[in-house]
Amino acid sequence: MEQYQELFLVLQLVKVAYGLKFLEAFSTEVLKPAEAGILSRARTPTINFVLGGPGVGKGTQCTRIAETYGFTHLSVGDLLRNEISSTSEYGDMILETITKGKIVSSEVTVKLLKKAIETSEADRFLVDGFPRTEENRVAYEQIIGIEPEVVLFFDCDEEEMMKRVLHRNQGRVDDNIDTTIERLKVFEAYTLPVIRYYTEKGKLYKINAIGTEDEIFERVRPIFST
Ligand code: AMP
Repeated sequence: MEQYQELFLVLQLVKVAYGLKFLEAFSTEVLKPAEAGILSRARTPTINFVLGGPGVGKGTQCTRIAETYGFTHLSVGDLLRNEISSTSEYGDMILETITKGKIVSSEVTVKLLKKAIETSEADRFLVDGFPRTEENRVAYEQIIGIEPEVVLFFDCDEEEMMKRVLHRNQGRVDDNIDTTIERLKVFEAYTLPVIRYYTEKGKLYKINAIGTEDEIFERVRPIFST
């Protein structure tokens, strides 16, 4: 009888141990994404997106908005250009894509954006040049998943955008006629659907981007002054 009791006890212990193991495996599964992601810091930063065609002046306005209203400006174009000048495994691919005026894959772009948000202490971001495609947007929703509060769209005609790109002299590989024609095509085909999406969600603020820097900034102010 005693033998049976011992066996029973051993069986109970095995069950408890197995149960703990099972729970451990389960909880690791559940906790993994949070540990690896933005939620691990127990924070949900404010995210705003800024869109517009090439040369429309997104970067200039973002700098002013960031300074005036306390945002951290994350230009996705700059994040990609930084990769080119680093030893990143993606450097060559990014350089080739940007030189052709095409779109870098969402996998790389969202990964860089996620890292930039996670490694920053800030909790208010202006994400400039993103999402440039519906694919970008869906990948963002799956991987980062923080709903943007405001989506700004700087609007300007193509002729003016081309003029600004060709006159800005920043030494960028993509600031030439052929690449800008391609970037304008990409904007129309891929970014306009994103703009329509956020219009339907009531998040889009369209800003007329014709005028002086000051005039345009005055049009932006009411959005952030409330
Ligand atoms: P920008 O500095 O915003 O004019 O971006 C320059 C170039 O970087 C674009 O023409 C694209 O090749 C690439 N790029 C910028 N943002 C994105 C994005 N969200 N997704 C993919 N490629 C991008």
